[in-house]
Amino acid sequence: MLEVLRSGQLAQGTMVSRLESAFQDATETKHAIAVNSGTTALVAAIQALELAPGDEVITSPFTFVATLNAIIEAGATARFVDIGDDFNIDAAAIHHAITDRTRALMPVHLYGYPADMAGIMPLAEQRGLAVIEDAAQAIGATQGGRPVGSFGIGCFSLYATKNVTTGEGGMITTHSDVIADRIKMLRNQGMRIRYQYEMAGHNYRLTDLQAAVGLPQMERLASLTLQRRRNAELLDEGLSGISGLILPSEDADRTHVFHQYTVRVTEDARLNRDQLAKGLTERGIGVGIYYPRVVFDYECYRSHPCVVTDPMPRANEFATQVLSLPVHPALTEDDIETVTAAVTGLLGD
Ligand SMILES: *Cc1c(COP(=O)(O)O)cnc(C)c1O
Repeated sequence: MLEVLRSGQLAQGTMVSRLESAFQDATETKHAIAVNSGTTALVAAIQALELAPGDEVITSPFTFVATLNAIIEAGATARFVDIGDDFNIDAAAIHHAITDRTRALMPVHLYGYPADMAGIMPLAEQRGLAVIEDAAQAIGATQGGRPVGSFGIGCFSLYATKNVTTGEGGMITTHSDVIADRIKMLRNQGMRIRYQYEMAGHNYRLTDLQAAVGLPQMERLASLTLQRRRNAELLDEGLSGISGLILPSEDADRTHVFHQYTVRVTEDARLNRDQLAKGLTERGIGVGIYYPRVVFDYECYRSHPCVVTDPMPRANEFATQVLSLPVHPALTEDDIETVTAAVTGLLGD
């Protein structure tokens, strides 16, 4: 950060370029474009598709609200497909929601676990749909050895709580020269050359001060992710066999980066999810509920003209069951022991 301050170039300078290169390498993509949040990454990615009003984007109902807000902000219409056991959009059910207005699929890699891109990409290709990955929580996750963000247009968040953070920030990854070019213009008021406007753009730029905060984390990404995975393994060991508690699972071809370690508390458990959350909070354990409701289940979206909803029984059920336990890389084995002992104490027979 001192280097940035002394250079006098505080925005869109070399530190931003270096962070972009680090994302290009990590996601094995041709282009990485830094922006000022994960939300603007999603907005810019959709804007780059040049959709018309009424064009539809299909996404998951079980996500952070930014996914939905970005679709609305970009002037498209959101449609939803219910989730599977992995908390992500059910790839096998997507075809039911495709209409003649569908232009893009926007899977979310929730909690750091890839949505089933092996199911989604062939469908998108067959139907001529663009794919935008909401990879806000999933930097470093892979399916079939391929990093998330390299299947479609990848959108990452660098918000304070994410696996890599610049405080606020975002990144878009793509193999496409055309998409990359449009996003770079959108980021900078629609200009390639100063004061030569080629489209109505915006200011989506990241600062070099922020990029300087992110760079060392990208250098340590493999070890930070490994630490999260180790912590998840210890949680798995300490929490296995508790009745009514469903632990996160991982397919052989997908790697989880455990942005969150999320369990489901089912009706077979001794306490319900809210009681367990309360008990753990009282014992000083920081738990979270991501997310308490299906994303469109709020008054402001209920009659929104750009939000088309269908019943989402699984997402609705899971919203009452999910609980995220601490898994971040700074935890010690003792910390994890404290967590598993508390859960076992509250739920064990
Ligand atoms: C954090 C997040 C976003 C938005 O990122 P911001 O950087 O907070 O704007 C979008 N989608 C998901 C799934 C997220 O978790």
